[in-house]
Amino acid sequence: MDCSTLFSTSSRREFLKKAALLGSLGFISHKNIFAFNGSIGKTDGLPDIFYKYKTMSVDHFPKLQKDIETLKRKGLLSRNKIFKGYIEDMTYELPENFTDAKSIIIMAAFTRSAIVKFHWHGKKYDVIIPPQYYDSGISIEDLKKVIQKDIIESSGYKIENTTTVHLKQLAVRSGLGRYGRNNLCYVKGMGTFITLYAFLTNFQFEDDHWTSLNLLDACRTCPICYGICPTNCIKKENFVINVGKCITLYNEINGNFPNWILPSMHNALIGCIKCQYPCPENEKFIPLAERLEDVTESETHKILNGKPDEKLLASLSQKLKKFIPATSKEYFPIFTRNLRALIR
Ligand code: SF4
Ligand code: SF4
Repeated sequence: MDCSTLFSTSSRREFLKKAALLGSLGFISHKNIFAFNGSIGKTDGLPDIFYKYKTMSVDHFPKLQKDIETLKRKGLLSRNKIFKGYIEDMTYELPENFTDAKSIIIMAAFTRSAIVKFHWHGKKYDVIIPPQYYDSGISIEDLKKVIQKDIIESSGYKIENTTTVHLKQLAVRSGLGRYGRNNLCYVKGMGTFITLYAFLTNFQFEDDHWTSLNLLDACRTCPICYGICPTNCIKKENFVINVGKCITLYNEINGNFPNWILPSMHNALIGCIKCQYPCPENEKFIPLAERLEDVTESETHKILNGKPDEKLLASLSQKLKKFIPATSKEYFPIFTRNLRALIR
């Protein structure tokens, strides 16, 4: 793949950073579907946030870093250029402005996928936007308030969001989640419909959660995801996927698709949801997808032509809840290319 066609590293990171910071949860009326044994957040003045969390001492950071180094040394981390670009700055070192941090809070906020109908040539196409690629209304500041009020229960401590740690690894090591065969993190009562966050704090929690890497029990006998992945990157024999073949890696950044990714393999406006939708562990959460406002015939025409004007950007940004490729001319080519693959 010609990486000169991709975004510059910095803008690519900016894009992913935005993607990571968005995803969250507005009000859901299906409360009885959730079987939380942990935390259900509701802090006055904030949107309803359905979350679970675990806390861990930062004393575990050297061990976590060592685990990553071991994976690299054994060649178990993908050497794919794009993937390496995503993780090269990840570190468990404490930031210079917070060297006295004592604990990390790992949070999973339930995050729905969205469905949007595109009108095109008299037909209607329902298209999925997976969680985390659109804004459902909760900010980092909201979460910090939840932590202060409902988790630490004191305003006298520093709380800082960190985006340089490996969130999935932290979630699994803390016992918040488990790995599925598709290498995604599953949280009980939420499946993979989560957005993970990590916050450093100088508060010392009594509980220090640290577990061995746990895998979903359901995967022992379930053949679904490795049989359905369009690029065969999920393996039957272990839980490490071939990241370099995962569609998500290619359709969330600019550039041409490699020729082994066929248009028929795409199944979402960005990313890939193929191994998540049929997973039995996600069954309860699929019907909770949020329906967004329809995209009209003339808007679809302009998207496919790849010539957005300010009016179109404003309309789509509002309809698709700040779906990132709809928010700027810089990212719009992603929208055009991905939609062309879905509307044929
Ligand atoms: S589809 Fe089956 S094998 Fe794959 S993650 Fe879900 S339970 Fe595990
Ligand atoms: S996200 Fe798509 S391409 Fe990646 S492992 Fe899952 S099904 Fe395969």
